[in-house]
Amino acid sequence: MTETPLKARIHSLIERTGPITVADFMSMCLSDPEHGYYMTRTPFGSEGDFTTAPEVSQMFGEMIGAWCLETWETIGRPNSVHLVELGPGRGTLMADMLRLARLEPAFAKAVHVHMVETSPHLRDLQQQTLQAAPVACTWHETLAEVPEGPTLLIANEFFDALPIHQYVLTSEGWRERMVGLNPHGTGFIFAAGPGRLDTAGLPNEIANPASRNIGPGAILETQPLANAIMSQIAARLKAHGGAALAIDYGYERTAIGDTLQAMEKHTFADPLANPGQADLTAHVNFEALARAAVEAGATAHGPMTQGDFLIALGLLERAGRLGSGKDHAVQDRLRDDVERLAGPDQMGTLFKVLAVTGQAAAPRPFTI
Ligand code: SAH
Repeated sequence: MTETPLKARIHSLIERTGPITVADFMSMCLSDPEHGYYMTRTPFGSEGDFTTAPEVSQMFGEMIGAWCLETWETIGRPNSVHLVELGPGRGTLMADMLRLARLEPAFAKAVHVHMVETSPHLRDLQQQTLQAAPVACTWHETLAEVPEGPTLLIANEFFDALPIHQYVLTSEGWRERMVGLNPHGTGFIFAAGPGRLDTAGLPNEIANPASRNIGPGAILETQPLANAIMSQIAARLKAHGGAALAIDYGYERTAIGDTLQAMEKHTFADPLANPGQADLTAHVNFEALARAAVEAGATAHGPMTQGDFLIALGLLERAGRLGSGKDHAVQDRLRDDVERLAGPDQMGTLFKVLAVTGQAAAPRPFTI
């Protein structure tokens, strides 16, 4: 096992204070100011560890840009609207969205772009990507810093990067899963800690597993930070109008399962092995996200699959237009990109889109 600087730091923390929660482990791996994964590197693309939809093709951002433009019209064309992106990566999605926004000068004039990003390294990259953007862009560390007003908000592969808690079923019930040291003190292992699960709002067969076939060792995940951020989004939309899209891989109903995963150079890795060196994510619980939005007074729509969403917004027509009159190589590439974004074996089914609105009416292509 290679030693990473963060591994030594987490090791001594656990030696001093005892095992840490999976959420604290994840949070240190991703966001430690000095050695955290997002703080030190550019994770995306073929050279990096994983590829996100905006990095697959410009068509993804164009479809989202078209959705924003149309939703702005639906909410009455406010002459000032905040276009907010959470966790914008390299800034590719926003650049592609803004290219489309330019098609409607009144929209381009109304838009104020706000990028919410915690990594100084990625913020620099985003600033380079958006240098020539047709509208002014402002950067923030948290959503709370974004001024109030009608808002269109996009979060693509943002919620999966937020720390989750895990609980493991023991003979005494659900206990928080912790990261501790192995008996030789040479590496990390998972172990059940004393923390108990707050079962409020959970389906009965999970809250009281004795009554069903959920056996010892089963894992349940909770995402309090993701839900808290969704509540903030929803409260803002309810107060000032607008809509948000959360696009991510995840599940539609609260369920048992360990989804904590590490990605390094496009392959799965051991999440405990190289802190700070691999991307760590967890699948998003869309039921919990939607509930957080509704409890904060907004309306949730979907989730629908990314494939259905993009095709309803005109992905195939866009690919047809981009390919028209081009050679076979370009057309093949576009077909591959469509397949990657919307194909059921690729991102089309695993990825879901949840829309949240301040007003009750569903944005296209969601129906109530
Ligand atoms: N949306 C981009 C990048 C996804 S990776 C894309 O689709 O390509 C996750 C992004 O969220 C990174 O930019 C990371 O630095 C950022 N991030 C992680 N935690 C964050 C937090 N708490 N607040 C704001 N940004 C965060």
